[in-house]
Amino acid sequence: MLQTGRYGEYGGMYVPEMLVPALKDVDEGYQRYRNDPGFRAELENYLKEFVGRPTPLTLARNMSEKYGLKLYLKREDQAFTGAHKINNTIGQALLAKKMGKRRLIAETGAGQHGVATATAARALGMKCTIFMGEVDIARQKMNVFRMRLLGAEVVAVKNGTRTLKDAISEAMRHWVTCLDDTHYLFGTAYGPHPFPAMVKDFQSVIGKEARAQILEREGKLPSCIVACIGGGSNAIGIFSGFLKDENVRLVGVEAGGCGIESGKHAARFQTGTKGVLHGSYTYVLQDKYGQIQDTHSVSAGLDYAAVGPEHALLRDVGRAEYSYATDDEALFAFQELGMVEGILPALESSHAVAWAIKNSKGFEKNDTVIVNLSGRGDKDVETVAKQMGVSI
Ligand SMILES: *Cc1c(COP(=O)(O)O)cnc(C)c1O
Repeated sequence: MLQTGRYGEYGGMYVPEMLVPALKDVDEGYQRYRNDPGFRAELENYLKEFVGRPTPLTLARNMSEKYGLKLYLKREDQAFTGAHKINNTIGQALLAKKMGKRRLIAETGAGQHGVATATAARALGMKCTIFMGEVDIARQKMNVFRMRLLGAEVVAVKNGTRTLKDAISEAMRHWVTCLDDTHYLFGTAYGPHPFPAMVKDFQSVIGKEARAQILEREGKLPSCIVACIGGGSNAIGIFSGFLKDENVRLVGVEAGGCGIESGKHAARFQTGTKGVLHGSYTYVLQDKYGQIQDTHSVSAGLDYAAVGPEHALLRDVGRAEYSYATDDEALFAFQELGMVEGILPALESSHAVAWAIKNSKGFEKNDTVIVNLSGRGDKDVETVAKQMGVSI
């Protein structure tokens, strides 16, 4: 029997006492509105008019020919602001507004979730504050300015390593001081209950669409679904459409960074152990004392020390499998999809593309594989140029 907020032994709500009322409030609001026809209709309308859904399912003809399988791409790169994150931010922003909140706060690492939250706040006429590590602010000037252009206040976090995990901690601390009018819009299928369940719900539109689209195109279910995994929201979003279809293989791809042996990676399922980070019990990269380890990935969106709790359960029960791609493999996939197909994927999504390339020999010509293209590559062009040793 699945307890509230639990995925087997994983998940839960491991937070300081002061945060519990806030999370219960969000959960109540979510339970109240999640099946409300008025709420769903309004959300659907935003997804259609503002986000541009449904996103296409594209047959990658040239890649299919070259690698000997039938490769489809679910085009979340076509969603407004260039990635799947907007599905969640619009969903939670609308929910928060229904609950009478007037302000959104959020954490961000590279700035993508900050931009998506600022966008949703503007669209719904809400105030917005984004917490971002000082180090990340210096690295991501463009996205910081983008957030400011969208009317968001960006707060520099000066604790710890001054990166994403500190920004999350600071946002949670701030939240308890302003519960009355503020919603904490968490960015991935992670964190304390109800975030993993709620974010999955708002991202499940990817899986619903993909399932209908592939059935219409192929008249049968796909052989395999592949998605990259940071916190796990784009992956659980597309997986959710196929979880009950036992014959559809589900593959999550983590960031292998400089290789597993190097220790510089974010492959929680490779060398992580069970523990708690930011309110959830799951696989965490930590030392023997439970201190969080530094992670590394060429893609900021996958560079996090813990993985969504539902993925931990799906792995334990064998419903999904989890692999990784290194920085080099992802960089190759980035360039390959551009050169062969005319599509530059986000470096995060490039990890999923890399898995499909690497494992293409395991598929037949008529096997359909859907890669969730979680975002577009424009944001990563500078990083890629640097890695290639090219000056632009
Ligand atoms: C943030 C991000 C991810 C990683 O987040 P998930 O919650 O694991 O989906 C993946 N791809 C892109 C393009 C992102 O911006």
